[in-house]
Amino acid sequence: MEILRTLILGSGPAGYTAAIYAGRAGLNPVVYEGLQPGGQLTQTTEIENFPGYPEGVDANEMMDDLRKQAERFGTEVRSAVCTKADLSAHPFTLTFDDESVVQCHTLVIATGASAKYLGLADEEKYRGQGVSACATCDGFFYRKRVVAVVGGGDTACEEATYLAGLAKKVYLIVRKDYLRASKAMQDRVFNNEKIEVLFECNTLGLFGEDGVEGAHLVRRKGQPDEEKFDIAIDGFFLAIGHRPNSELFRGQLDLDEIGYIKTDGPSPRTNIPGVYAAGDVADPYYRQAIVAAASGCKAAMEAEKYLQAENL
Ligand code: NDP
Repeated sequence: MEILRTLILGSGPAGYTAAIYAGRAGLNPVVYEGLQPGGQLTQTTEIENFPGYPEGVDANEMMDDLRKQAERFGTEVRSAVCTKADLSAHPFTLTFDDESVVQCHTLVIATGASAKYLGLADEEKYRGQGVSACATCDGFFYRKRVVAVVGGGDTACEEATYLAGLAKKVYLIVRKDYLRASKAMQDRVFNNEKIEVLFECNTLGLFGEDGVEGAHLVRRKGQPDEEKFDIAIDGFFLAIGHRPNSELFRGQLDLDEIGYIKTDGPSPRTNIPGVYAAGDVADPYYRQAIVAAASGCKAAMEAEKYLQAENL
């Protein structure tokens, strides 16, 4: 059976940066692209906050460049999805698309996280045209405009506060009659005159000709005093949580209560030597491409050290 020195799961900034470093270190890494080649960034349009691009860069273009850079140093990129992982013995054994089995001495898990969406057809329809799950990525495009943020947790409050610094007005759409966020975050929201909190509200749909122009909402859904109304908005931001793509490793790697892979402090080392977690699958907090890229670099450096120490 094929035994790779370094196998990288995921093709976002973490996966490709790990590949660039592993490739240059002569580890002949193989990247498995996974379900979303290029990762979460391919869901956005332009990236303006990645250092080195004074004019910004198209997200897909940047991911293509990262891939080419990884390939330049001997990375092989394969299109397949990991469906099973056995980390109980060295070398590790991974199954792809339920059929091909590959072993590896070191594994970099860079499978990312997926933002949760409400499941409305309009979220798909307007994706990249007013619907976003990342205020830091896309907020800039809504300067002096009106936006809505959905959610009542810390992320929603943080995103609403961030957007209030740019936008003319921010609606915070909360399904319950209270915020789940910490007191400090709540205070920031309540003390910001640009933010209007719409408690007990759910989104029914979005409308607009060439992009989002508004949202259909319902207050106190299913109650006798249920009330349907519309708000005019230019942007609709989801902040109802993220799901780390770590299910394959449950029961094998230490995960936190949400499912993020636990690492050894700021290093990407997991509880199994030779297995590293990089990017959003291990980062509930920053969730930025530049941070993911940096952790991919660290993972490759750790893998190299491990292989050297084990004479592999
Ligand atoms: P949370 O799970 O804490 O909150 C999710 C929010 O989205 C809740 O208000 C929830 O409503 C709402 N929600 C979920 N599903 C739906 C739905 N279908 N329709 C409408 N609303 C929905 O996620 P966060 O991303 O906010 O936070 C994740 C973790 O990260 C938390 O532990 C948080 O404390 C932490 N964090 C900390 C920050 C900080 O300290 N600065 C910043 C960001 C995150 P409901 O309350 O009704 O369940």
